[in-house]
Amino acid sequence: MNFHIMTLFPEMILQGLNTSITGRAIEKGIINIEAVNIRDYAFNKHNKVDDYIYGGGAGMLMQAEPVYLCYEAILSGIIERTPKCRPRVIYLTPQGEVFTQKKAQELAKEEDLILLCGHYEGIDERVLEEIVTDNISIGDYVLTGGELPAMIVTDAVSRLIPGVLNNDVSAEFESFQDNLLEYPQYSRPEIWHGKRVPEVLLSGHHANIEKWRHEQSVLRTRQRRPDLIDISNK
Ligand code: SAM
Repeated sequence: MNFHIMTLFPEMILQGLNTSITGRAIEKGIINIEAVNIRDYAFNKHNKVDDYIYGGGAGMLMQAEPVYLCYEAILSGIIERTPKCRPRVIYLTPQGEVFTQKKAQELAKEEDLILLCGHYEGIDERVLEEIVTDNISIGDYVLTGGELPAMIVTDAVSRLIPGVLNNDVSAEFESFQDNLLEYPQYSRPEIWHGKRVPEVLLSGHHANIEKWRHEQSVLRTRQRRPDLIDISNK
């Protein structure tokens, strides 16, 4: 799967994602991450990509043209490789639909994804209207830029691509599957700080273990995220 990330800070994206599990997936060629610098498409000699906001107000806005030219360059590269592909373009914005595991699963079916990171006060609305297919927020708070949100989306989607996790099963039984949080888990030693691993997990009785885990998932979801239980009852 190919992630094309439009950003003013490509080094931030690459440093973050070239590490650990996503880093290994890049090395193995299972995912490919292209971080494209929007500044390379600036149309003035100072490489400036932002300007004052019409109507006044604090801060600067990213201009439409460099974003559009950057998008066109990425798109033509994709079309050259896959002529029929019209990739989704995701704008990371606090005004978007809040990102969920379900959305990650939906996006993991795509071959190419273009992610657009804003900065400053955001991006000129006109280019957003022309190129964006999905607006995604990572939560109801405002960050300085779309780079961390783009990395979050890329990470969550990547780990659903077969081969990215060592054990593909581990992506199947996790929090948010069936609107439940994952059950508590334990590793060696059996006793730590006087706390014992629950007996059932040492029993080797798989049916009982599954039953205990399901009960714990339901309990934990009720305690920590009752809203998820409400959603599944609707
Ligand atoms: N003025 C914008 C507003 O009120 O909606 C916020 C701009 S924010 C300071 C700059 C950039 O950070 C945005 O263009 C967006 O790309 C990114 N960003 C900030 N918070 C985000 C969030 N919660 N989810 C996704 N992207 C976010």
